[in-house]
Amino acid sequence: MTPLRPRYARIDKIIDELLTDHAVKDAPVPIDKMIKAKGVTIRKIDLKDISGMIVRDGDSVLIGVNSTQAENRQRFTLAHEFGHFLLHEGQPVHYDKSFRMDLRSSLSSTGTDTEEVEANYFGSSILMPRKFLERDVADRFIDIEDADAVADLAKRYKVSLQAMNIRLLNVFGQAS
Ligand SMILES: [Zn+2]
Repeated sequence: MTPLRPRYARIDKIIDELLTDHAVKDAPVPIDKMIKAKGVTIRKIDLKDISGMIVRDGDSVLIGVNSTQAENRQRFTLAHEFGHFLLHEGQPVHYDKSFRMDLRSSLSSTGTDTEEVEANYFGSSILMPRKFLERDVADRFIDIEDADAVADLAKRYKVSLQAMNIRLLNVFGQAS
């Protein structure tokens, strides 16, 4: 059933369990490995104007990622589709053209949007776990308003600069 509101707490719990199960303590998070451990096949191919997709046929599940997009973008796509896999049953085929990663501006009330918001939240939370960021920013004395420092952080987490900026804003809040 389609959730009416994004289930952030439930998603946080699923991610904590995944990180624990895979003994992941530092970035970058091995998203490929986590997906394959669930028996899901990953296929990287030229999907033209589609970023990613998930296809379910009985017990067999395939996640397709557009191989022509930048590596970090592909990681986000994988994480997003993995979110659909874990959270949204019942759709045999799901395509994603492009994601709106800015969660705060996409809080719409329609079911499909809720699923997209959840998949984006899952994707950004698993690639940039809150506890990793809080630790890294504190330990390394990172100024999250320093563009070079944020670029380094994005590189370490293997995510796009845009994805990192949005995540930092969500975790640490707007600078005053
Ligand atoms: Zn999606």
